[in-house]
Amino acid sequence: MKTIAFIGLGNMGGPMAANLLKAGYTVQVFDLVPEALQTLQDQGASAASSPEQAVAGADVVISMLPAGKHVAGLYLGNGGQPGLLESVAPGTLILDCSTIDGETVQQVAGACAEIGLDMLDAPVSGGVAAAQAGTLTFMCGGSADAFLRAEPILSAMGKRIFHAGNHGAGQVAKMCNNMLLAIHMIGTSEALKMGANCGLDPKILSEIMLNSSGRNWSLELYNPFPGVMDSPASRGYAPGFMVDLMAKDLGLAVDNAKTTGSRIPLGELAAALYQEKQAVGDGRKDFSSILELFEPA
Ligand code: NAD
Repeated sequence: MKTIAFIGLGNMGGPMAANLLKAGYTVQVFDLVPEALQTLQDQGASAASSPEQAVAGADVVISMLPAGKHVAGLYLGNGGQPGLLESVAPGTLILDCSTIDGETVQQVAGACAEIGLDMLDAPVSGGVAAAQAGTLTFMCGGSADAFLRAEPILSAMGKRIFHAGNHGAGQVAKMCNNMLLAIHMIGTSEALKMGANCGLDPKILSEIMLNSSGRNWSLELYNPFPGVMDSPASRGYAPGFMVDLMAKDLGLAVDNAKTTGSRIPLGELAAALYQEKQAVGDGRKDFSSILELFEPA
């Protein structure tokens, strides 16, 4: 069985690393937060005191970090610190599962290619519940050979593993998906709030729309109205998937639209609404808390 180094044990990375342990892999973990390391150590992982220690003897490196600057800093180095690529063994497979910008993907993939390493951008969809259940969707960018090597490992953490195309293609797929997610989360919130303002029970309204043409993922599995189901909304909007991360993803979509000349009027509006939510100090709340913007004036 392979040895996997896993860097970034947050809301997503923690349960993903736990599923690799359950599948029988040896997992060497690193995070900046000691509590996150301890949680994985309790489940059987070896806790490393640095990323370099985590990759010692590893066949595969998986990273699950907040944004492009963290991924570039890890693999390529920053502030005079050497990057992790200087410490990995020849033949190591590099899998970055973070949601990041295409430019960083190309930089890391290029640096990997220079030293003969296979690398995939492999962002995920499904949220914390799917990370825990091992049912994530992976969208991969990179060579067909690298994809074949990665597939069995990703299958321990996800149910559907897609090869979207070359380096960066996984991130484009993820960006499109999350823009759509933000739009239907906002739409679902508006509809539920307006119905409640008219005196409807949000549980009954949700049931009606789930059996009508308004049905969507946010309504079905991640209802933003408190008390309708066991979702972050019913737990005081504890994340889950933070407003800050959704705002980052929408920023990536807006930047991409500028570069490619794509028209995304709803994506731009969604980005502005998530920025408004950040501006009131709610960046660390779950992204379904966007419903709170729709209180009647
Ligand atoms: P998070 O903030 O909960 O976790 C990130 C972790 O990375 C933290 O534990 C942090 O300490 C660690 N970290 C940061 N810099 C580090 C470094 N240099 N070395 C080691 N550890 C470092 O974020 P998350 O919700 O787990 O999201 C991770 C990525 O997955 C993001 O790119 C996000 O957009 C994406 N994503 C999240 C969800 C979700 O529902 N939360 C769903 C799909 C994709």
